[in-house]
Amino acid sequence: MKAFIKTYGCQMNEHDSRRMHSVLRREGYEIIDTMDQADFVLLNTCSVREKPENKVYSFLGTARDLKRVKPDLVIGVAGCVAQQEGQRLLKREKSVDLVFGPDNMFKLPQMLAEVRAGKRVLETRWAERDQRRVHNFIPDEELERNEVDGRKAYVAISKGCDNFCTFCVVPYTRGRDISRESENILCEVRDVVARGAREIMLLGQNVNSYHAGDWRFYELLDAVSQVDGLVRVRFKSPHPNDWGNRLSDLLTARPTICNQLHLPFQAGSDRVLEKMRRNHTVDDYIEKIDYLRGINPGIEISTDIIAGFPTESDAEFERTLDVIRHCRFEHMYAFMYSERPNTLASRKMDDDVPQEVKSERLQRVLALHNQHQQEQLDAFIGQTVDVLIDGAHPREKGVMCGRTQGDRPVAVRDADLEIGDLVDVAVDARRKFSLEGEPVRMMVTDT
Ligand code: SF4
Repeated sequence: MKAFIKTYGCQMNEHDSRRMHSVLRREGYEIIDTMDQADFVLLNTCSVREKPENKVYSFLGTARDLKRVKPDLVIGVAGCVAQQEGQRLLKREKSVDLVFGPDNMFKLPQMLAEVRAGKRVLETRWAERDQRRVHNFIPDEELERNEVDGRKAYVAISKGCDNFCTFCVVPYTRGRDISRESENILCEVRDVVARGAREIMLLGQNVNSYHAGDWRFYELLDAVSQVDGLVRVRFKSPHPNDWGNRLSDLLTARPTICNQLHLPFQAGSDRVLEKMRRNHTVDDYIEKIDYLRGINPGIEISTDIIAGFPTESDAEFERTLDVIRHCRFEHMYAFMYSERPNTLASRKMDDDVPQEVKSERLQRVLALHNQHQQEQLDAFIGQTVDVLIDGAHPREKGVMCGRTQGDRPVAVRDADLEIGDLVDVAVDARRKFSLEGEPVRMMVTDT
């Protein structure tokens, strides 16, 4: 039996797909890269933005065509669109056999057995949290089965979110905020490191709201960063409200914590931030960035921006550009506002900024960021950066690829390097969005 999983969206979905690979392998499936030969096609979906959601229906059309010539093919839909659409999806797409939300992925064997018995299955129940909002949502028997790929692994520390920002679909598709016990997480981290992971990414929809007994994100990050054999740890995504200078100090002090922070700011106007229910001001945000850049000049900071949130005026949008000019982000995820189902903004606010205005604002954000990015790339030339090698260059012979602590791609001219090597690279050139250089010192290797 062969299974193919198509994944849309964020790293949390990547993590969930890897988990489902492991569950399916245990059931005797071989995981394949294309769907033509598959007996089971599963779409792991994302509905944070409109575009990935639309892609799901076009992909389902292709799977439906395949089922016409291969009637035993099982088609499943997992992830946020599955949770959000549930019964509607089963009604709309008659070829789909199985629809389940993110909290049900470990029930795949039972659900597939029901499908084989002739049922169409819908499973969108939430995981239950205890009074402390804690639940070990990775079952014990799965702790030692987290996939390590390219010497990297994802570790989910929490899921869901209680913030209910007015534009965001996450509390409706991923549920309420639940954290795992710290020891349960550390056990998994030690295991993936023992099985070869050099870098791990701690994941949560609001990663730094982590809470389990006396442990907060600070204590957890501190403990993970000291696990024997771990070379790098990253985390995504934090919220500005739960980010304090103490965490900036820890990130700066610990060499294993990557010198990178993703801190979404969304909009440069306090009035718009209030309408988004972000519960912080522009000044709060800038103070945190200034503190971190002050103690750690090499830090690479990324952010999220929404252009054209309901009622955003031209003057308020100009403030967004001012914040970008001040913070000079190294990376940015910027999008035009689009209504997401169930959110407060979609129910109570008019999407009143015209599409062409949103589009023009987005272009201005991207142009300004691009200018900063080009200047930042130029400034790397002549510097030495540490690079974790993650594979051979797909087109250039004798060139290996890797990432800096700030997650910048680097082409390294040395064919003898292996995946997982950590190497100091002297940067001598830049490409459109990446760096290039020669290795000068091997820092961590197996050989
Ligand atoms: S904090 Fe993040 S995940 Fe939570 S509702 Fe707001 S945008 Fe969504």
